[in-house]
Amino acid sequence: MKSSPAYPPLVDPFRRAITYLRVSVTDRCDFRCVYCMAEDMTFLPKREVLSLEELDRLCSAFVARGVRKLRLTGGEPLVRKNILSLIQSLSRHLDTGDLEELTLTTNGSQLSRYADKLADLGVRRINVSIDTLDPATFRQITRWGDLDRVLEGLRAAQSAGLKIKVNTVALKGVNDHAFDEMIRWVHGQDMDLTLIETMPLGAIEDDRTDQYVSLADVRRDLEQRWTLIDIPFQTGGPARYVSIAETGGRIGFITPLSHNFCESCNRVRVTCTGTLYMCLGQDDAADLRTPLRSSDGDELLHTAIDEAIARKPKGHDFIIDRRGAPPALARHMSVTGG
Ligand code: SAM
Ligand code: SF4
Repeated sequence: MKSSPAYPPLVDPFRRAITYLRVSVTDRCDFRCVYCMAEDMTFLPKREVLSLEELDRLCSAFVARGVRKLRLTGGEPLVRKNILSLIQSLSRHLDTGDLEELTLTTNGSQLSRYADKLADLGVRRINVSIDTLDPATFRQITRWGDLDRVLEGLRAAQSAGLKIKVNTVALKGVNDHAFDEMIRWVHGQDMDLTLIETMPLGAIEDDRTDQYVSLADVRRDLEQRWTLIDIPFQTGGPARYVSIAETGGRIGFITPLSHNFCESCNRVRVTCTGTLYMCLGQDDAADLRTPLRSSDGDELLHTAIDEAIARKPKGHDFIIDRRGAPPALARHMSVTGG
Protein backbone atom coordinates (compact mmCIF):
# COMPACT_ATOMS: atom_id res chain seq x y z
CA MET A 1 0.00 0.00 0.00
CA LYS A 2 1.33 3.47 -0.85
CA SER A 3 1.28 6.22 1.77
CA SER A 4 -2.22 7.51 2.20
CA PRO A 5 -2.53 11.18 1.25
CA ALA A 6 -4.52 11.60 4.48
CA TYR A 7 -1.37 10.78 6.44
CA PRO A 8 1.58 12.77 5.19
CA PRO A 9 5.21 11.81 5.86
CA LEU A 10 6.42 12.53 9.38
CA VAL A 11 8.57 15.63 9.67
CA ASP A 12 9.41 17.15 13.05
CA PRO A 13 9.49 20.85 13.98
CA PHE A 14 13.20 21.01 13.11
CA ARG A 15 12.41 19.73 9.60
CA ARG A 16 13.94 16.34 10.27
CA ALA A 17 12.12 13.58 8.37
CA ILE A 18 11.40 10.54 10.53
CA THR A 19 12.46 7.60 8.41
CA TYR A 20 13.80 5.15 10.98
CA LEU A 21 11.81 3.39 13.69
CA ARG A 22 13.21 1.12 16.36
CA VAL A 23 10.70 -1.06 18.09
CA SER A 24 11.26 -3.09 21.19
CA VAL A 25 9.18 -6.24 20.80
CA THR A 26 9.77 -7.52 24.32
CA ASP A 27 11.41 -6.38 27.54
CA ARG A 28 12.50 -9.94 28.29
CA CYS A 29 15.88 -11.42 27.62
CA ASP A 30 17.80 -14.65 28.09
CA PHE A 31 20.91 -12.66 29.15
CA ARG A 32 21.40 -10.22 32.01
CA CYS A 33 24.18 -7.95 30.74
CA VAL A 34 25.64 -6.00 33.63
CA TYR A 35 25.30 -2.59 31.97
CA CYS A 36 21.76 -3.27 30.79
CA MET A 37 19.82 -5.14 33.45
CA ALA A 38 19.81 -5.98 37.11
CA GLU A 39 20.11 -9.73 37.66
CA ASP A 40 16.69 -9.91 39.30
CA MET A 41 14.86 -7.79 36.74
CA THR A 42 11.11 -7.65 37.08
CA PHE A 43 9.48 -7.95 33.69
CA LEU A 44 6.22 -6.43 32.60
CA PRO A 45 2.93 -8.26 32.91
CA LYS A 46 1.86 -9.66 29.54
CA ARG A 47 -1.22 -7.46 29.19
CA GLU A 48 0.96 -4.37 29.20
CA VAL A 49 3.04 -5.59 26.30
CA LEU A 50 1.73 -5.04 22.76
CA SER A 51 0.48 -8.17 21.03
CA LEU A 52 2.13 -9.15 17.75
CA GLU A 53 -0.93 -7.85 15.91
CA GLU A 54 -0.67 -4.51 17.71
CA LEU A 55 3.03 -4.32 16.92
CA ASP A 56 2.22 -4.97 13.28
CA ARG A 57 -0.41 -2.20 13.20
CA LEU A 58 1.92 0.19 14.91
CA CYS A 59 4.91 -0.49 12.64
CA SER A 60 2.70 -0.39 9.55
CA ALA A 61 1.27 2.99 10.58
CA PHE A 62 4.82 4.36 10.73
CA VAL A 63 5.67 2.81 7.36
CA ALA A 64 2.60 4.53 5.91
CA ARG A 65 4.06 7.80 7.25
CA GLY A 66 7.41 7.45 5.53
CA VAL A 67 9.46 5.20 7.78
CA ARG A 68 11.87 3.33 5.47
CA LYS A 69 13.90 1.40 7.99
CA LEU A 70 12.52 -0.69 10.80
CA ARG A 71 14.67 -2.27 13.49
CA LEU A 72 13.25 -4.82 15.91
CA THR A 73 15.02 -4.94 19.21
CA GLY A 74 14.31 -5.54 22.85
CA GLY A 75 15.08 -7.10 25.33
CA GLU A 76 15.99 -9.94 23.07
CA PRO A 77 13.70 -9.84 20.02
CA LEU A 78 14.27 -13.50 19.18
CA VAL A 79 12.94 -14.72 22.54
CA ARG A 80 9.53 -13.19 21.80
CA LYS A 81 7.12 -16.06 21.10
CA ASN A 82 6.13 -16.29 17.42
CA ILE A 83 8.39 -13.40 16.49
CA LEU A 84 8.73 -14.86 12.99
CA SER A 85 5.04 -14.32 12.34
CA LEU A 86 5.53 -10.60 13.01
CA ILE A 87 8.60 -10.47 10.78
CA GLN A 88 6.76 -12.36 8.06
CA SER A 89 3.85 -9.98 8.25
CA LEU A 90 6.06 -6.87 8.22
CA SER A 91 8.00 -8.21 5.25
CA ARG A 92 5.00 -7.33 3.06
CA HIS A 93 6.23 -3.75 3.23
CA LEU A 94 9.55 -4.86 1.76
CA ASP A 95 7.67 -6.53 -1.08
CA THR A 96 5.78 -3.32 -1.89
CA GLY A 97 8.96 -1.25 -1.64
CA ASP A 98 7.46 0.98 1.08
CA LEU A 99 10.09 -0.31 3.47
CA GLU A 100 13.74 -0.38 2.47
CA GLU A 101 15.09 -2.37 5.34
CA LEU A 102 13.76 -4.69 8.02
CA THR A 103 16.45 -5.54 10.51
CA LEU A 104 17.10 -6.50 14.09
CA THR A 105 19.54 -6.17 16.93
CA THR A 106 20.09 -9.43 18.74
CA ASN A 107 22.34 -11.01 21.31
CA GLY A 108 22.75 -13.92 18.90
CA SER A 109 21.68 -16.65 21.31
CA GLN A 110 18.83 -17.84 19.07
CA LEU A 111 20.40 -17.20 15.69
CA SER A 112 21.30 -20.80 14.86
CA ARG A 113 17.60 -21.51 14.95
CA TYR A 114 16.37 -18.42 13.14
CA ALA A 115 19.04 -17.21 10.70
CA ASP A 116 17.76 -19.05 7.61
CA LYS A 117 14.19 -18.01 8.23
CA LEU A 118 15.15 -14.39 8.75
CA ALA A 119 17.01 -14.39 5.43
CA ASP A 120 14.01 -16.02 3.70
CA LEU A 121 11.77 -13.26 5.04
CA GLY A 122 13.87 -10.50 3.52
CA VAL A 123 16.13 -9.57 6.43
CA ARG A 124 19.50 -8.70 4.87
CA ARG A 125 21.55 -7.30 7.75
CA ILE A 126 21.53 -7.74 11.50
CA ASN A 127 23.40 -6.30 14.45
CA VAL A 128 24.77 -8.84 16.89
CA SER A 129 26.04 -7.70 20.28
CA ILE A 130 29.33 -9.27 21.36
CA ASP A 131 31.48 -7.43 23.86
CA THR A 132 34.32 -9.91 24.19
CA LEU A 133 35.78 -13.02 22.58
CA ASP A 134 36.83 -14.46 25.89
CA PRO A 135 34.24 -17.03 27.08
CA ALA A 136 34.76 -16.30 30.79
CA THR A 137 34.51 -12.54 30.33
CA PHE A 138 31.50 -13.06 28.10
CA ARG A 139 29.82 -14.95 30.90
CA GLN A 140 30.82 -12.28 33.38
CA ILE A 141 29.32 -9.49 31.24
CA THR A 142 26.14 -11.27 30.16
CA ARG A 143 25.80 -13.23 33.42
CA TRP A 144 23.80 -15.96 31.61
CA GLY A 145 25.22 -16.02 28.09
CA ASP A 146 27.28 -18.70 26.34
CA LEU A 147 29.79 -17.34 23.84
CA ASP A 148 30.01 -20.62 21.86
CA ARG A 149 26.32 -20.58 21.24
CA VAL A 150 26.46 -16.99 20.03
CA LEU A 151 29.38 -17.76 17.73
CA GLU A 152 27.48 -20.73 16.34
CA GLY A 153 24.55 -18.38 15.68
CA LEU A 154 26.86 -15.95 13.95
CA ARG A 155 28.12 -18.68 11.64
CA ALA A 156 24.53 -19.66 10.84
CA ALA A 157 23.74 -16.04 10.02
CA GLN A 158 26.75 -15.79 7.74
CA SER A 159 25.86 -19.00 5.91
CA ALA A 160 22.35 -17.64 5.44
CA GLY A 161 23.93 -14.65 3.70
CA LEU A 162 23.10 -12.06 6.37
CA LYS A 163 25.45 -9.10 6.65
CA ILE A 164 26.55 -8.66 10.24
CA LYS A 165 27.54 -5.69 12.31
CA VAL A 166 28.99 -6.55 15.69
CA ASN A 167 28.05 -4.15 18.50
CA THR A 168 30.58 -3.93 21.31
CA VAL A 169 29.95 -1.85 24.41
CA ALA A 170 33.25 -0.43 25.67
CA LEU A 171 33.71 -1.31 29.33
CA LYS A 172 36.59 0.01 31.38
CA GLY A 173 38.88 -2.72 32.67
CA VAL A 174 36.70 -5.43 31.12
CA ASN A 175 37.20 -5.36 27.35
CA ASP A 176 39.02 -2.10 26.66
CA HIS A 177 42.39 -3.88 26.41
CA ALA A 178 41.08 -6.23 23.71
CA PHE A 179 39.77 -4.02 20.90
CA ASP A 180 42.69 -4.92 18.62
CA GLU A 181 41.74 -8.57 18.82
CA MET A 182 38.10 -7.68 18.23
CA ILE A 183 38.96 -5.59 15.16
CA ARG A 184 41.08 -8.37 13.66
CA TRP A 185 38.41 -10.97 14.28
CA VAL A 186 35.41 -8.92 13.12
CA HIS A 187 37.08 -7.57 9.99
CA GLY A 188 38.66 -10.95 9.29
CA GLN A 189 35.14 -12.35 8.92
CA ASP A 190 33.95 -9.54 6.68
CA MET A 191 31.78 -8.01 9.37
CA ASP A 192 31.57 -4.39 10.57
CA LEU A 193 32.25 -3.31 14.12
CA THR A 194 30.53 -0.66 16.18
CA LEU A 195 31.92 0.43 19.51
CA ILE A 196 29.36 1.89 21.90
CA GLU A 197 29.83 4.09 24.94
CA THR A 198 27.81 3.06 27.98
CA MET A 199 24.67 5.08 28.42
CA PRO A 200 23.12 6.03 31.75
CA LEU A 201 19.81 4.21 31.26
CA GLY A 202 18.00 2.45 34.09
CA ALA A 203 19.14 1.40 37.54
CA ILE A 204 21.66 -1.45 37.66
CA GLU A 205 23.77 -2.82 40.51
CA ASP A 206 27.12 -1.48 39.35
CA ASP A 207 28.39 2.07 39.38
CA ARG A 208 28.28 3.41 35.84
CA THR A 209 31.21 5.76 36.29
CA ASP A 210 33.30 2.59 36.85
CA GLN A 211 32.24 1.19 33.48
CA TYR A 212 32.46 4.31 31.38
CA VAL A 213 35.23 4.60 28.80
CA SER A 214 35.37 7.57 26.48
CA LEU A 215 35.46 6.46 22.85
CA ALA A 216 37.51 9.56 22.07
CA ASP A 217 40.23 7.97 24.26
CA VAL A 218 39.71 4.58 22.63
CA ARG A 219 40.07 6.15 19.23
CA ARG A 220 43.30 7.94 20.20
CA ASP A 221 44.65 4.66 21.49
CA LEU A 222 43.70 2.74 18.34
CA GLU A 223 45.44 5.40 16.26
CA GLN A 224 48.74 4.38 17.84
CA ARG A 225 48.55 1.07 15.97
CA TRP A 226 45.98 1.38 13.18
CA THR A 227 45.41 3.83 10.35
CA LEU A 228 41.93 5.22 10.86
CA ILE A 229 40.41 7.03 7.90
CA ASP A 230 37.25 9.09 8.44
CA ILE A 231 34.55 8.14 5.99
CA PRO A 232 31.49 10.22 5.21
CA PHE A 233 29.10 7.36 5.97
CA GLN A 234 26.06 8.78 7.80
CA THR A 235 23.10 7.00 9.26
CA GLY A 236 21.39 9.94 10.95
CA GLY A 237 22.33 8.37 14.27
CA PRO A 238 25.03 8.83 16.88
CA ALA A 239 27.66 6.80 15.01
CA ARG A 240 30.72 8.17 13.25
CA TYR A 241 32.52 5.80 10.92
CA VAL A 242 36.12 5.20 10.00
CA SER A 243 37.73 2.59 7.85
CA ILE A 244 40.90 0.86 8.94
CA ALA A 245 43.53 0.83 6.24
CA GLU A 246 45.19 -2.37 7.54
CA THR A 247 41.99 -4.45 7.45
CA GLY A 248 39.84 -2.62 4.90
CA GLY A 249 36.99 -2.93 7.40
CA ARG A 250 34.75 -0.32 8.98
CA ILE A 251 34.35 0.78 12.60
CA GLY A 252 31.57 2.95 13.96
CA PHE A 253 31.92 4.90 17.18
CA ILE A 254 28.61 5.46 18.92
CA THR A 255 28.93 8.29 21.40
CA PRO A 256 25.40 8.99 22.58
CA LEU A 257 26.64 11.35 25.29
CA SER A 258 27.75 13.82 22.67
CA HIS A 259 25.29 16.13 20.96
CA ASN A 260 26.93 16.17 17.59
CA PHE A 261 24.39 13.96 15.85
CA CYS A 262 21.10 15.48 17.03
CA GLU A 263 20.71 17.84 14.07
CA SER A 264 20.52 14.90 11.66
CA CYS A 265 18.38 12.68 13.90
CA ASN A 266 15.93 10.73 11.76
CA ARG A 267 14.67 8.22 14.32
CA VAL A 268 12.18 7.51 17.04
CA ARG A 269 11.72 4.51 19.32
CA VAL A 270 8.72 2.60 20.57
CA THR A 271 8.81 0.41 23.65
CA CYS A 272 7.13 -2.97 23.86
CA THR A 273 4.28 -1.29 25.74
CA GLY A 274 3.66 1.10 22.87
CA THR A 275 5.30 4.16 24.39
CA LEU A 276 6.88 6.36 21.77
CA TYR A 277 10.11 8.09 22.75
CA MET A 278 10.94 10.93 20.43
CA CYS A 279 14.55 11.07 21.72
CA LEU A 280 16.64 8.31 23.32
CA GLY A 281 18.04 10.84 25.76
CA GLN A 282 14.84 12.53 26.96
CA ASP A 283 11.95 11.35 29.06
CA ASP A 284 9.15 12.95 27.06
CA ALA A 285 7.04 10.18 25.56
CA ALA A 286 3.65 9.47 24.02
CA ASP A 287 1.31 6.62 24.73
CA LEU A 288 0.40 4.84 21.50
CA ARG A 289 -1.09 1.78 23.19
CA THR A 290 -4.28 3.54 24.24
CA PRO A 291 -5.12 4.74 20.71
CA LEU A 292 -4.13 1.32 19.35
CA ARG A 293 -6.43 -0.46 21.76
CA SER A 294 -9.32 1.94 21.74
CA SER A 295 -10.40 1.40 18.14
CA ASP A 296 -9.88 -0.99 15.26
CA GLY A 297 -9.09 1.83 12.87
CA ASP A 298 -5.78 3.70 12.89
CA GLU A 299 -7.11 7.25 12.96
CA LEU A 300 -6.50 7.81 16.69
CA LEU A 301 -3.07 6.23 16.36
CA HIS A 302 -2.06 8.62 13.58
CA THR A 303 -3.30 11.60 15.58
CA ALA A 304 -1.24 10.49 18.57
CA ILE A 305 1.83 9.99 16.37
CA ASP A 306 1.40 13.48 14.87
CA GLU A 307 1.11 15.08 18.30
CA ALA A 308 4.20 13.27 19.49
CA ILE A 309 6.39 14.08 16.50
CA ALA A 310 5.43 17.73 16.88
CA ARG A 311 7.18 17.53 20.29
CA LYS A 312 10.39 15.83 19.12
CA PRO A 313 13.10 17.77 20.92
CA LYS A 314 16.07 19.36 19.26
CA GLY A 315 18.60 17.40 21.32
CA HIS A 316 19.12 15.27 24.41
CA ASP A 317 20.30 15.53 28.02
CA PHE A 318 22.50 12.64 29.03
CA ILE A 319 24.77 12.85 32.03
CA ILE A 320 26.59 10.25 34.03
CA ASP A 321 26.74 11.84 37.45
CA ARG A 322 30.06 11.31 39.16
CA ARG A 323 28.55 11.63 42.64
CA GLY A 324 26.49 8.48 42.26
CA ALA A 325 23.19 10.18 41.49
CA PRO A 326 20.53 8.04 39.80
CA PRO A 327 20.92 7.48 36.05
CA ALA A 328 19.94 10.42 33.86
CA LEU A 329 17.05 8.36 32.57
CA ALA A 330 15.19 5.90 34.73
CA ARG A 331 14.17 3.50 31.98
CA HIS A 332 16.35 0.55 30.97
CA MET A 333 17.73 0.15 27.48
CA SER A 334 15.94 -3.20 27.34
CA VAL A 335 12.64 -1.35 27.59
CA THR A 336 13.35 1.39 25.05
CA GLY A 337 15.34 -0.84 22.76
CA GLY A 338 18.92 -0.05 21.81
N1 SAM B 1 19.26 -8.00 23.24
C1 SAM B 1 19.68 -7.41 22.03
C2 SAM B 1 21.17 -7.16 22.06
O1 SAM B 1 21.78 -7.26 23.12
O2 SAM B 1 21.72 -6.85 21.00
C3 SAM B 1 18.96 -6.15 21.66
C4 SAM B 1 18.66 -5.16 22.76
S1 SAM B 1 20.07 -4.41 23.53
C5 SAM B 1 19.30 -3.36 24.69
C6 SAM B 1 20.66 -3.37 22.23
C7 SAM B 1 22.06 -2.85 22.37
O3 SAM B 1 22.09 -1.96 23.47
C8 SAM B 1 23.11 -3.90 22.66
O4 SAM B 1 24.16 -3.77 21.73
C9 SAM B 1 23.57 -3.60 24.05
O5 SAM B 1 24.91 -3.93 24.20
C10 SAM B 1 23.32 -2.13 24.14
N2 SAM B 1 23.14 -1.61 25.50
C11 SAM B 1 22.33 -2.07 26.49
N3 SAM B 1 22.42 -1.30 27.60
C12 SAM B 1 23.30 -0.31 27.30
C13 SAM B 1 23.82 0.80 28.01
N4 SAM B 1 23.43 1.08 29.25
N5 SAM B 1 24.72 1.58 27.38
C14 SAM B 1 25.12 1.33 26.12
N6 SAM B 1 24.65 0.31 25.39
C15 SAM B 1 23.76 -0.51 25.96
FE1 SF4 C 1 19.63 -8.69 26.97
FE2 SF4 C 1 20.59 -7.20 25.05
FE3 SF4 C 1 20.21 -6.17 27.50
FE4 SF4 C 1 22.13 -7.94 27.14
S1 SF4 C 1 22.01 -5.92 26.19
S2 SF4 C 1 20.61 -7.98 28.79
S3 SF4 C 1 21.30 -9.24 25.61
S4 SF4 C 1 18.66 -6.88 26.13
